[in-house]
Amino acid sequence: EKNGTMGGDDGRILVFVRLRPMAKKEKEVGSRCCVKIVNKRDVYLTEFANENDYLRLKRLRGRHFTFDASFPDSTSQHEVYTTTTADLVEAVLQGRNGSVFCYGATGAGKTYTMLGTVDNPGVMVLAIKDLFTKIRQRSCDGNHVVHLSYLEVYNETVRDLLSPGRPLVLREDKQGIVAAGLTQYRAYSTDEVMALLQRGNQNRTTEPTCANETSSRSHAILQVVIEYRVKDASMNVINRVGKLSLIDLAGSERALATDQRTLRSLEGANINRSLLALSSCINALVEGKKHIPYRNSKLTQLLKDSLGGACNTVMIANISPSNLSFGETQNTLHWADRAK
Ligand code: ADP
Ligand code: MG
Repeated sequence: EKNGTMGGDDGRILVFVRLRPMAKKEKEVGSRCCVKIVNKRDVYLTEFANENDYLRLKRLRGRHFTFDASFPDSTSQHEVYTTTTADLVEAVLQGRNGSVFCYGATGAGKTYTMLGTVDNPGVMVLAIKDLFTKIRQRSCDGNHVVHLSYLEVYNETVRDLLSPGRPLVLREDKQGIVAAGLTQYRAYSTDEVMALLQRGNQNRTTEPTCANETSSRSHAILQVVIEYRVKDASMNVINRVGKLSLIDLAGSERALATDQRTLRSLEGANINRSLLALSSCINALVEGKKHIPYRNSKLTQLLKDSLGGACNTVMIANISPSNLSFGETQNTLHWADRAK
């Protein structure tokens, strides 16, 4: 089904691809565009840059990918939000859980898609804006309480991005797995949210090797919890809770191994355990397996109640148009293709 039918009862993951514009730096070194998007659905890898890429392309000859929607580089933040996430926000307002992930190599446009800029806010900000608009349209809007939390998983350590400090411990209580002591920010309007999230983003752990750059190995998770009361058919007041998780994943460039056996054999190596564990969970969900290995990482534990089952899951794979990123783009498209 095309977008607009989140349904969710079938537990299917909706998968989208977003191509970013060519960067100035990429143009300056003479890179060419190696991705073509046709009919807002089909993605083609079209060119090659050097010998290695050519060999890869030869194996891929005639290969193309198709997704729920694919966004060319001219697509606005608003269109990305509307197509990928608006229906999920609606479901969360009915008391369901859901999550949106941005996956892709460092520099492919994940943070731009999720957070965006002051002038071009991304999915996180547009989702919260839409949420408040929809709450205001309800007759019982005074009933609704909205809480935000923003945390990161870096190197299997969980940190509060709204109130940085010591690492947080994950605990299991009757609501599921929670990060003990995590700041729950009570939000009353959209106005403060962009500044809040930008400050939070600046608190993300940076790589020791490139201290100025936001870490490519850190996952940022924004969770928005909406609670409200409704009366059921026999006029009893019941509580409804919906949870929306929006995740700016770590760079995928070092996560080439995606199955459990490889994960175990690489234990302790320089790999991103949470990213691999997420891949394993998604593959298990797609294959309709009974056992989903949520326990294998901090990220998947935190998202246990928001991924699979009756939850709505959206994946946005971000790619660069440059032939210099051909290999990474190809890996990202393959990964996204398996999530369908
Ligand atoms: P990532 O988070 O995947 O490492 P970023 O979101 O930081 O990548 O994007 C890398 C650069 O490209 C940033 O300067 C960002 O502003 C720019 N960029 C990414 N996507 C877009 C887009 N769709 N339109 C315009 N600029 C973009
Ligand atoms: Mg980023």
